Amino acid sequence: MRTLVVDHPLVAHKLTALRDERTDSPTFRRLADELVTLLAYEATRGIRTEPVRVQTPVAAADGVRLARPAPLVVPVLRAGLGMLDGMMRLLPTAEVGFLGMVRDEGSLVATTYATRLPGDLSQREVFVLDPMLATGGTLVATIELLVARGAANVTALCLLAAPEGLARVDAAFRDDAGCPVAVVTAGVDERLTERGYITPGLGDAGDRLYGVV
Ligand code: URA
Repeated sequence: MRTLVVDHPLVAHKLTALRDERTDSPTFRRLADELVTLLAYEATRGIRTEPVRVQTPVAAADGVRLARPAPLVVPVLRAGLGMLDGMMRLLPTAEVGFLGMVRDEGSLVATTYATRLPGDLSQREVFVLDPMLATGGTLVATIELLVARGAANVTALCLLAAPEGLARVDAAFRDDAGCPVAVVTAGVDERLTERGYITPGLGDAGDRLYGVV
């Protein structure tokens, strides 16, 4: 598994504002949206393209366009929805699948409660959106499902990661098993608390985006 921690002053600035407990929900949503677009720029660095020739008003020019099939973006509900617009801004022609995962706050085990994904993902480049890579249970289960459907590669965009979660995803996909896996994040924090929260982290990303329900 490849890990990229995006090192950029704008990323660090927005992440710090997201962490701040005084940041209200509307501001949190806007900052998360902007931060994802910055992460998406790095996460798509290796995206497949194909050559194309266009006619400018002056002459013919050789360029590229995104290869087909279109990439698939998969927000993990609920908090991943807060990352969708920021991702689609850079990849407007991508298709979107949805995966609902819920974490049992006692056992910290993730279970799937909704799946809306293409059955066949062969040749598809998949971008998973999940703001908090904590224990890694949700992300491992998500990537396993995508690999089982034939994804060509999977890149997860996470606002924040814990070392424990990164290690768990790496252990699960170390040899890439025919499907390269990458995690792109704005920061790697110190550790997890005993309740499975990233510390210092930013709290519960879903609650901060959408309120406590
Ligand atoms: N999910 C969150 O929203 N925050 C954490 O710190 C860990 C998991």
